[in-house]
Amino acid sequence: MGKRRIVVQGDDRLSKRCRQVTDFNRRLHILLDDMKETLEEAQGAGLAAPQVGILRRAVIVVDDSEEMLELVNPEILDQSGEQTAPEGCLSVPGKWGMVTRPYYAKIRAQDRDGNWFLLEREGLTARCLFHEIEHLDGHLYVEHIDHFMTDEELEEYYAEEEGR
Ligand code: ZN
Repeated sequence: MGKRRIVVQGDDRLSKRCRQVTDFNRRLHILLDDMKETLEEAQGAGLAAPQVGILRRAVIVVDDSEEMLELVNPEILDQSGEQTAPEGCLSVPGKWGMVTRPYYAKIRAQDRDGNWFLLEREGLTARCLFHEIEHLDGHLYVEHIDHFMTDEELEEYYAEEEGR
């Protein structure tokens, strides 16, 4: 199929709880490949199946090494610490908000063939994993913010980051 259309905030499918993946078949492989292509084209850091209108528990996250991780039926086993940074979402285009999330994530998930694996990540990749997994329960990052950041606030944040 190739690139799929990304649904945006306001679409019902973004507020639904997604179902477990039970068939690790060709259809799932095509979905995952399409999600990767869609994510690459959109130059995002992560994408969840509901964002392409499929209510199944599957996400793609770009790792520190630019590798795309595929997680099917992901479960958060452990989390710790805290990090606060601007966050955006391909389903909420052009907007940013300050979100606080755990710094560390320990996750269990299945690969495209149904094999379980463990994943430990911190920092930006952990942030992205929490963001994408939340999508599977019908939640968007905007629920964690009190306002969208202005251009000035964004510039200020990045100027301070660079000064460190
Ligand atoms: Zn998102």
